[in-house]
Formats: sequence, C-alpha cells, structure tokens
Amino acid sequence: MHKVAIVGRPNVGKSSLFNRLIGRREAVVADFPGVTRDVKEHVMLYENHRIVLMDTGGLWSGDEWEQHIRDKAEMAIHDAKCVVFVLDPRDGLNTADYEVAEWLRKIGKPVIVVANKMDSVKHDDVFTAELWALGFDEPVPISAEHARGLDELMRRVLEHLPEDDEDYPEIAPIRISLIGRPNVGKSSLLNAITGSDRVIVSDIPGTTRDSIDIEWNFAGQRFILVDTAGIRKRPDTSIEEFSMMRSESSIANSDIIWLVVNAGEIGDHELKLANMAYDSGKPVVIVVNKWDLVPDAELKRTERMLDEKLAHLHFAPRVYTSALNDYGIHDMLAEAIKLYEKWQRRIPTGELNKWLDVWQIKQATPNFKGKPLKMMYITQAETAPPTFVIFCNKEDFVTRAYENFLQNRIREDLDLAGIPVRIVWKERG
Ligand code: GDP
Ligand code: GDP
Repeated sequence: MHKVAIVGRPNVGKSSLFNRLIGRREAVVADFPGVTRDVKEHVMLYENHRIVLMDTGGLWSGDEWEQHIRDKAEMAIHDAKCVVFVLDPRDGLNTADYEVAEWLRKIGKPVIVVANKMDSVKHDDVFTAELWALGFDEPVPISAEHARGLDELMRRVLEHLPEDDEDYPEIAPIRISLIGRPNVGKSSLLNAITGSDRVIVSDIPGTTRDSIDIEWNFAGQRFILVDTAGIRKRPDTSIEEFSMMRSESSIANSDIIWLVVNAGEIGDHELKLANMAYDSGKPVVIVVNKWDLVPDAELKRTERMLDEKLAHLHFAPRVYTSALNDYGIHDMLAEAIKLYEKWQRRIPTGELNKWLDVWQIKQATPNFKGKPLKMMYITQAETAPPTFVIFCNKEDFVTRAYENFLQNRIREDLDLAGIPVRIVWKERG
C-alpha cells in the first residue's frame, strides 16, 4: 500500500478532507479527547489503488510548529510517496504556513499544494494566486466541505504512485473475530462498522453450533466477521465460560482478532482472551471501547494501566473507540487491513541474513561458560504467522530474553510492526 501524507497547520480543514476522502461518518475528529499525539493512518480506496493517508494533524498543539512536531512528521513523511500540503488562503498565509513550506522543500518529497475552502469557482483565481509564491507546482483548489475538486486532487496524487497495484477488490476477504467479555460493546461496534450494509452470509443451524458470518466492504476490501453466534450456550456453562468457548472457535476461524476491552475493566477474562489470541499466532488489534467514558484527566493513567496489564501483547496496535459516537471505527478497519498484509509478507532470505549479521555484531549474543551463541543463517519458513528458522551452533544457548529481543528487532527493522512472529532454532553440527 502506498502512503500519502497530509500536512498543514490547524484549522485549514485537514480533518474535513480526511473525512471526505475516506468516507467517514465520524463528526469532527479533533474534538474527541486526544490520546497520544501521533501520526494517524487512514486507509482509502481510489480507483484500484489502496492508499494509506497519513494524518499529521494530531501532532500540532496550537499554532506553533515545534521541533518535536517536525521530527515526528518528518519520520512519517519519509515513507510517503508524496505530500498533500493543505492551506486556507481565505485567511491569508501565515508564518506557520511559510515555515511548513520551507521544511517541505528541504525534505524534498513531491508536494501538492491544496487551497481548501474554495467553496465556489469564483474563489479560485483570487485566492490561489498567493499560493504560487510558496514555490511549488500549480495549487489545486478544493472544498473539503462541499466535496469540490477532490477528483482533481486525487489525479495529482496518483501521478506520484507506481502503476503496479493489484486490483484490490479481487483479493480474498479478511476473516475477523470480535472477542471480549459480555457487555464491552461488541454488538454496538459491529453496528457502527457495518451500519446497514451488512449481509449475513451463512446461517448454518447445527446440533452443536449456529454459525453466523457477517460480510461487509471497506476501502475495497471484503471483511467477514466469523461466528457471531458461535456455540450455542449449554445450560451447564456460565456466561463467562460460554464467552470463552465462543471466542476460541471464532479465533480458530479468523485471520485477524479484534480484542475488545473496556478501559476500566481489565481482569482475568481479558488476560485469558489475550493469551488465547497470542497463542493463535494471529495478529491482534486491541480495541479499547467506551473511550468516551474515560475522563480527560484519566487518559494517560488509563493508557499506562493498559500497557501494564496487556504487557504480553505489547506489540499489538491499540485503537480507542466509542461505538456510541462512531469514534475510532475507521482505525479498527485500517489496522486490520495493515496487519493482514504484513502477516502474509515474505521477506527475502538475502535481506534477512544481512539483518542477522548486523545484529550479531551490534549486540552480544548470550553465552554459556564463555562460549557464545553463534547464528549462521536465517530463513523465513512460513507466513501467517511469519516464522523464521535460525541455524545456530547450540540451541541451549538461546535465552528467552534474547529471543524476545530478536522478535522485537524483526518487527521493527523488517516492517512487521504489530505482528506476532515466531522463531524456530535449529542446530547445525
Ligand atoms: P484541521 O484542524 O486542519 O483538521 O481543520 P478542520 O477539518 O477541523 O476544519 C477547520 C474548520 O474549517 C471547521 O470549522 C470546518 O468546518 C471548516 N472547513 C473545513 N473545510 C472547509 C471548506 O471546504 N469550506 C469551508 N467553508 N469551511 C471548511
Ligand atoms: P456486547 O455484549 O459486547 O455485544 O455489548 P453491547 O454492544 O451489547 O453493549 C453493552 C452496553 O454498552 C450497551 O448498553 C451499549 O449501549 C453500551 N456501549 C457500547 N459501546 C459503548 C461506547 O463506546 N460507549 C458507551 N458509553 N457505551 C457503550
């Protein structure tokens, strides 16, 4: 998937533009209690291109354009094929606009200048003239609010994307399981996600289970939520046990797991589900629902509590949602698509061995009575989950800590963020 960054100072209409492009129903996103100030990613389909739109809007803390914002934004832009620079020429350009322009010029990615809030044609010439002075190509007049000029904007974006994309609507559906204790909001989330578009694709009454799968589309991707009815509750099981059994079958039938939790209520049930999810080797998105109920003053503390309690899924992406406000719904879907792609990625052996050589030099390997672990060769034996075989001198020398270290490096260095990875050790005599 190709990435496109959208930048601009606050209030020029970036959120409005995102909402237009990704077809989001969520209202003004910026008004929702912010979590970490970070770059968000949205996924959209345009013609047959699936595009990741990078939203740097959350980084700004007012009108200032500070160093830490620049650093974070610069890292994001590094992966982008081009940058959409949004301005509001009706206000006239201000210092922040010129600073951003200067900074973009230094970074050197292709820049598409957008004049937003050009609600009618008569605005175009008057207001866009000033934008030429920024020194980029011809500005594109748009109105995010009136959906004007968006096709022209996307045409300009596509000029910077490679032609070789697959036809996304043809690819297999992503099978998802939605697990979590009763009452966390699973049905409400499902409603928010599918709205009225949902289709029940199978309803197979059986003696032991009624399986209902629900199918819908998002950004050209088909999704199937598996086993929404699950196993029929037996009279001898408690609600919790029943929920556990249901989750197990649902996980087994899916590619990606949405583990729904309530911020204030992480207990044994959640830990069991998290373990089950982890053991399955399938990617997990942690969905922290009812975020609207967490008071602003508690946001940070709640995040830290989640870090602690779900430590063994520390690598799993977390999204914050409110099924009631349709907040974060897009993020749930976007994360699922991204994880699914990575989960199936195959990394060339050459690249893996170069990676292994580097880390073997940079970081001392564990040793036993002065004899160090030596790794000769690595190869990816399987995808989904990505499974790596490492040939070494002595398997017993490998410590849990070192294996965790390598797993984390693999995720970070080889673009497998968020993915459970497995390592199999083999001795070569
Ligand atoms: P952001 O801070 O850059 O994300 O900006 P927002 O998307 O929150 O928009 C800031 C304000 O500009 C809001 O009041 C929007 O309603 C308004 N706005 C956004 N796009 C347009 C547009 O195309 N035309 C007009 N007239 N107003 C717009
Ligand atoms: P399920 O048992 O996991 O399917 O949970 P439900 O979807 O039936 O939701 C349980 C209760 O929580 C209902 O009363 C919902 O209205 C409420 N609820 C669900 N999501 C949210 C949310 O994001 N915020 C708030 N405040 N309430 C929610």
